[in-house]
Amino acid sequence: MQIRFYNSLTKRLELFESLKLGVVSMYSCGPTVYDLAHIGNFRTFLFGDLLRRFLELVGYRVDHVMNITDVGHMTDGEEDRMTQAAARMKENKKSGRVAEGAVENPDDPYQIAEYYTQAFLADAKKLGYKIAFEYPQRVPKATNHIAGMQEMIGELIRRGHAYVADDGVVYFSVESFPDYGKLSGNTLDNLQSGAGGRVSEENQSRKRHPADFMLWKPDRHHIMKWDSPWGVGYPGWHIECSVMARKLLQRDVIDIHTGGEDLIFPHHECEIAQSCGATGNKRFANFWLHARFLFVNGEKMSKSKGTFYTARDVFEGKVTGKPVHPAVLRYELTKAHYRTNLDFSEKGLQDSAIAVRRMIEMRQSLEQRTGGQAAAVDLTHPLLERFAKALADDLNIAEALAIVNQFVRTEHRDPYEALGVWKRINSVLAVAPIHEGLNYDDADDSAGSEEEALRQAEQWCRELDAARKEKNYSRADELRKKIQDAGFEVRTGKDGTTIQRVLV
Ligand code: AMP
Ligand code: ZN
Repeated sequence: MQIRFYNSLTKRLELFESLKLGVVSMYSCGPTVYDLAHIGNFRTFLFGDLLRRFLELVGYRVDHVMNITDVGHMTDGEEDRMTQAAARMKENKKSGRVAEGAVENPDDPYQIAEYYTQAFLADAKKLGYKIAFEYPQRVPKATNHIAGMQEMIGELIRRGHAYVADDGVVYFSVESFPDYGKLSGNTLDNLQSGAGGRVSEENQSRKRHPADFMLWKPDRHHIMKWDSPWGVGYPGWHIECSVMARKLLQRDVIDIHTGGEDLIFPHHECEIAQSCGATGNKRFANFWLHARFLFVNGEKMSKSKGTFYTARDVFEGKVTGKPVHPAVLRYELTKAHYRTNLDFSEKGLQDSAIAVRRMIEMRQSLEQRTGGQAAAVDLTHPLLERFAKALADDLNIAEALAIVNQFVRTEHRDPYEALGVWKRINSVLAVAPIHEGLNYDDADDSAGSEEEALRQAEQWCRELDAARKEKNYSRADELRKKIQDAGFEVRTGKDGTTIQRVLV
């Protein structure tokens, strides 16, 4: 099957072939763990997940790595984000939003980072983000790779790509790397005049070129600091990804690199310069795939307009007034093509809930008819082939979902085969059920164990049927209410009471 992706590096659709037969090495820029991840972040992360799952569907082994940025993500002219997070954490503890024992010492950046790392992983697992289940092996923290960063910085200095300025800061010299600007479309000339994105004003006079970026900053007073050949201090933001991608993927040139569109410049431009500068290769990643931003009701998420949502806000009902099932949020965040701005809305969530409901019902019916026995099907199955071909066209999810929709609405004459097909489709979509094939322990879930809740509700259904038989209608009403309060929709049919989880 021919696979085509839009490569931000060449700005065209390109035929995808992995460097190593049957294996794809893929790196995704991960979260900064100074706060809870929002739905925009998860839009980008789940796009990476969809990409990975699709590649697995068509037979690749995907070596996926995603970093946790727990140091060094400085923004121009602002305080370090970790310092801001410490202040926020104190507020949250005071107001009770964060449990008293959760972070013992908010002034300890490692404790803050650990708290938000765990929160991120919990949300990501809930959303079926596969790589979260591979923590920590494939999800490295920047603070565990400082030595590697120093090694690469040393290498860059030796190769003439970096220099120590008068103020002791180590900078990457963009003029030493002729391809700088190729990914983002910037030229050194327009960067010279400050156009083309965020160029730090700080210490401009010490740099050889205004676009030179920091690799190491000596600063004894910084909240996180390490010894180094260039003094006690901390690394720049970009170097961690170059180092961790190389170390964990064990490759100098990888197949795919993903992130949100805002990372194209400067972050990914700088990653390329560092990695290629250090290894001498022409490329760092063969394919660069970027997700466009998520909007809420057509606009950027905004705290003042109350449209800034974390994944937890959505789960807990801040958008719809009712808890939202993670499968619905996952579907909503992945249903639009990654190169369009996804417009998140309550209406969208409701529509997604309808689609997910249909898929769950179909799955349940197939499970019942087959006793869970699925036939083995491969990609030569016409429907699966169409599904995979749609996604092979630069992840054309709209087309893939149209095919799924058709499948969900059809009468399945051979339920064994249909279940086999669905399992393969669901290995990519991960909605019905969301955690198929993943070792998800929902006992960790603050909402309690789904399985346990289901068992209890089914028990009440049987009691409800018995009460109806005995014409004890007040008892039957009481039980119906109990089941509804537990988050289920109750239906009474000729075979007795059945339930469905309310999705939004
Ligand atoms: P951060 O934690 O800010 O470094 O962001 C993690 C990922 O989320 C990065 O790949 C960003 O590009 C991406 N991202 C941030 N905001 C949005 C948004 N509104 N929509 C989509 N992706 C986003
Ligand atoms: Zn990165």
